Amino acid sequence: MRERLCPVCQVALVPQTHLGITIDVCPTCAGIWFDADELTRLHNLDPEILPRLDHQYQPLVERYDPPWERLCPVCREPLYRYNYLYTSPIVLDACDKCGGTWVDNGELEKMEQVLRDAKAMEIPPEAKAQVELAKIEAEHKEEVARKEFWLGLFNFMRARPRFPF
Ligand SMILES: [Zn+2]
Ligand SMILES: [Zn+2]
Repeated sequence: MRERLCPVCQVALVPQTHLGITIDVCPTCAGIWFDADELTRLHNLDPEILPRLDHQYQPLVERYDPPWERLCPVCREPLYRYNYLYTSPIVLDACDKCGGTWVDNGELEKMEQVLRDAKAMEIPPEAKAQVELAKIEAEHKEEVARKEFWLGLFNFMRARPRFPF
């Protein structure tokens, strides 16, 4: 079997087995290569494992973006970048051919956070805050309107021409 190289550092990845699943870890940058469905399988076996792996493997070098294209450790084809869950700011590298995913160190924890947040609420916190603010504003407007009504009535009564009797 051909050696699997880190797409970032180009050193040989080290196979590590967790929950019976063998992932490939870079001994230098601590990025992890997951074959096609390994990320999902690990997460399903233990939802807490992803952030744990992030802590277990620590990089020896400061994170950097190499000037060269990141290649799939298995197929040696260029990886394509995509945003995790489409809209998150987490950028992952995946291989079109074998379906594997490269995850830089630190990203697993962020992925877990995004998943947790998405699960915890049906609407994003900003939207919730907006709703609360709108409620307060509506109440305030109602109060102002009530005051204006009474003031208007008062002025109307006062301004009404007096009848001579
Ligand atoms: Zn590396
Ligand atoms: Zn591949």
